[in-house]
Amino acid sequence: MVEIKEVELKKENSIFGQISEYNHEKVVFCHDHDTGLKAIIGIHNTVLGPALGGTRMWTYASDAEALNDVLRLSRGMTYKAAISGLNLGGGKAVIIGDAKKDKSEALMRRYGRFVKNLNGAYITAEDVGTTTKDMEYIKMETDHVAGLPESMGGSGDPSPVTAYGTYMGMKAAAKKAYGSDSLEGKKISVQGVGHVGGYLVELLAKENAQIFITDIYEDRLREISNKYGAKVVGMDEIYDLDVDIYSPCALGATINDNTLSRLKCQIIAGSANNQLREEEVHGPALVEKGIIYAPDFLINAGGLINVYSELIGYNRESAYAQTERIYGYTLDIFDLAEKEGIHNQLAAMKMAEKRINSISKIKSRY
Ligand code: NAD
Repeated sequence: MVEIKEVELKKENSIFGQISEYNHEKVVFCHDHDTGLKAIIGIHNTVLGPALGGTRMWTYASDAEALNDVLRLSRGMTYKAAISGLNLGGGKAVIIGDAKKDKSEALMRRYGRFVKNLNGAYITAEDVGTTTKDMEYIKMETDHVAGLPESMGGSGDPSPVTAYGTYMGMKAAAKKAYGSDSLEGKKISVQGVGHVGGYLVELLAKENAQIFITDIYEDRLREISNKYGAKVVGMDEIYDLDVDIYSPCALGATINDNTLSRLKCQIIAGSANNQLREEEVHGPALVEKGIIYAPDFLINAGGLINVYSELIGYNRESAYAQTERIYGYTLDIFDLAEKEGIHNQLAAMKMAEKRINSISKIKSRY
């Protein structure tokens, strides 16, 4: 008896240990036997507004891995919204399962009902493994869903806006490194030419940059290469290229112990989330190497800005105008980092926290 209690206590401690480490407000575990739904919704912080973030569907190796992912991603959304000046909190959700095999209308609608039960504290959207069709199913059960197709009055594909913000952040980093934000003639490697990477290459080509691209999909590489004159390189070769700018637009954690010693660029600016494998290790390591890092959650916020504008009355031009401000915000972060002698990612986190703390104070009184 005693033994069982101890085991249960340890398990509970480890879940709450993780939740309190990231300082989440609420984590909801959703289960439905009939549809096979297993989901976790993480609401990190709602000081600035309702927690908005996509729902990811993924085959996690364990429940602990799923929990860890949702906690990290939802915290990232808090920072992204705060630093972008949006009145949104940070949240994210994961559905555990294979997006190709385990999805059904009933599962998505059951999940939608869990979102509905949160009464607007969490607003969901698309993410890896979920589609606009899934959002349509969720919408049948709750209004707390954003990023709907344009045909349903939504803001549609956020990727062009995300690419534009990433481009703005990259130009700000160029200004810092070279004294001019022109990317003409600069050698730029783009890792992943999917939705965001493809639009980014288009913007870079317009500025006559020398572009190098890599991806898993050969057809997509050929298409982008033919359209914009980008040179195709190998998936691993990208880390050894002698380029000015490296732009991770595929996966997270590509800046790590293995890749750091190989990178020869002066700037890293890309759209991928969580690019630094360990913020407190690889953030300072980049400073030591003299590489200017444009914080990921700041420069990839265009998509969130676009979705946010759907909630307040969608207007594409104003979404782009607000995304353009990423240029100035990125320069502010570089200044703060220099002034405080800290790495850029930490400076961006501090800036976001400062806004959350100051707004939380004004909310405490009428
Ligand atoms: P996507 O799936 O359309 O594109 C990613 C591309 O990367 C795919 O073409 C894929 O084949 C490729 N890829 C995967 N692993 C790779 C590897 N090891 N090497 C090279 N290429 C690889 O995704 P997306 O919507 O373009 O998003 C790209 C990144 O930006 C993701 O990390 C995403 O989380 C982040 N992001 C996207 C948005 C958005 O608006 N779509 C917003 C914020 C952040």
